[in-house]
Amino acid sequence: MGRIRRGSVVGIVATALPLVAAAVVAAGLFPGAGERLVTLFLINVIAVIGIGVYSGNSGIISFGNVGFMAIGAYASGLLTINPIVQKTALPHLPEWLMGWGMPFLPALLVALVVVALVAVAIGIPVARLGGSSASICTLGFLVIVHVVLIASSDFTRGSQTFFGIPRAVNLWVALPFAILAVATARIYRDSAAGMKLRASREDEIASLAVGVNVRLHRFFAWVLGAILSGAAGVLFAHFIGAFSPKDFYFNMTFMLLAMLILGGITTVSGAVVGAAVIMVIVELLRKLEGGVDLGFLHLPTVFGLTDIGIGLAILLVMYRLQDGLLGVREIDEQVPFLKRLAAGGAKPVAKQASDAVVTEGGALRVENVGKRFSGLVALHDANFDIRPGLVTGLIGPNGAGKSTLINSVSGVVPPSTGRVTIDGTHVGSLPVYRVAVAGLARTFQNIRLFNNLTVLENVTVAASAVAKDRDPVDLAREALAEVGLGDVADQLAGTLSYGAQRRLEIARALALKPRYLLLDEPAAGMNPAETQELMTVLDRIRTKHRLGLLVVEHDLKLIMRLCDVVVVLNKGQQIAMGTPAEIQANPAVIEAYIGRRRSAAPPPQPAIDARQPDLDPQPADKPA
Ligand code: ADP
Ligand code: MG
Repeated sequence: MGRIRRGSVVGIVATALPLVAAAVVAAGLFPGAGERLVTLFLINVIAVIGIGVYSGNSGIISFGNVGFMAIGAYASGLLTINPIVQKTALPHLPEWLMGWGMPFLPALLVALVVVALVAVAIGIPVARLGGSSASICTLGFLVIVHVVLIASSDFTRGSQTFFGIPRAVNLWVALPFAILAVATARIYRDSAAGMKLRASREDEIASLAVGVNVRLHRFFAWVLGAILSGAAGVLFAHFIGAFSPKDFYFNMTFMLLAMLILGGITTVSGAVVGAAVIMVIVELLRKLEGGVDLGFLHLPTVFGLTDIGIGLAILLVMYRLQDGLLGVREIDEQVPFLKRLAAGGAKPVAKQASDAVVTEGGALRVENVGKRFSGLVALHDANFDIRPGLVTGLIGPNGAGKSTLINSVSGVVPPSTGRVTIDGTHVGSLPVYRVAVAGLARTFQNIRLFNNLTVLENVTVAASAVAKDRDPVDLAREALAEVGLGDVADQLAGTLSYGAQRRLEIARALALKPRYLLLDEPAAGMNPAETQELMTVLDRIRTKHRLGLLVVEHDLKLIMRLCDVVVVLNKGQQIAMGTPAEIQANPAVIEAYIGRRRSAAPPPQPAIDARQPDLDPQPADKPA
């Protein structure tokens, strides 16, 4: 996806303008101290954005980025230091590093290459991890960098001050870098890659199920963020001219994370706001820290007042606004005027899809698929085909293994036995995200949307996993139109009604252009009107796309109306398969499933709790 969206450009301008304004005001009205303060602010903005690119998009807090700042600072320091100063300050420096005395820009570039190489090496293990394991690794990295810097005293003067670095950075040098950082981070955030990573932040399992290679995107963001952090470190080094390893340690990490979290970790504009607010707090408190004498009021010196102040500010903001000052949306997605500007170029819904995948023949084969959870056989030897153009119903009492079957077939929970083939291709060996691209899409019993992404983004993530010659956004809009959600494309998914969320999950699956679509209780928790709407959508999908549909459903009337074939599970065993009429007459099925309720006129709606969780981490369904 080569081109930059209009919304991104509006966002970059809206985020960068305050930076320019701050620089102009400082230079015009407060030369000297004010200029220095704003320069530091701009460098902080870059540093915060560096963390945000990885942490904001992946949802994994990084404590390690200040380590990259340190590497950048020391690397470019070594390259630019005045050779005469170098002789006295670093007498044991190896020959090849001596006397370079490089200008600032080339040194910056070399330093960034060094940072990138380290980031790649560290990123390989870090990107495999999620959540707090990844966070703790980044913390380990920070500690290692710190210790290595102190230990390598021939290069760094150990814990002593490293000095003599040319002060090449002032307000007007920092400003373009800050703007560049804003633009880079924003373009990445809005790109398909950034959107995929944000999707994985919202729900990793669902993102895998729509074809997101989570590790790859974590890795990419990690390296990109490291480079931005490295740049911030280089600028910082050439701004202050002298520093020591402790300048790049916990204090700075705490301050930068405070800025990021206070402003809103997921947005670029939040990083700028957070940096500004924390710097104002720090400046005010620093003045108070040394004690105040206002004649009538005498405040003593308070040690650590600044850190306490930052901590309190975070507590207060988080208490009221858990997503930070700006929340989860960029400034241009919130301010009406900017919203209109950004929407100016948006196209209306493109023509209806005519490129539906029509495959005759072929099948999704489920052969002897079984799943055992430490002793419990949740599923034993399921055997059936799902054929394009047909709707297969999957029924069975609660706990029969229906969700386990869908999870096993789609690779989300790898089966213990058996094999699954899609049109002859064995999918058991594929990573989960590749199964989605291979033609198998699914929804979850408990809705798993990317709540803090827009409706359109939810679907675009899936579309961009398969779109080759078409704009994934167009594909996404078509899929939304198909389930009747075209009008709410710009809302956050988490704000939709229950029925609409279910349909959105179907649209997201459809955007993968699957040949087989597995729906786990799509009507669960819906009211009759919502169920009716869903039926219309399913009818349309089945006739138009000739998908092979598998539907888990408890409403037997609905199953009998919709399905061509019905598979029945009971206690993990596949006890029957046949046409709806055959199933209704099958004694084993009647015994296991319908029997006890035969006497009561309408057999459906058995005492089944449709809201049972199907995968661990997600809470139970929300009510409508
Ligand atoms: P259904 O969808 O038909 O209601 P499930 O497939 O969710 O049934 O569950 C089948 C059986 O497997 C149940 O006994 C359930 O408790 C068990 N089960 C499902 N998921 C897990 C899991 N992750 N760990 C252990 N047991 C599980
Ligand atoms: Mg289930």
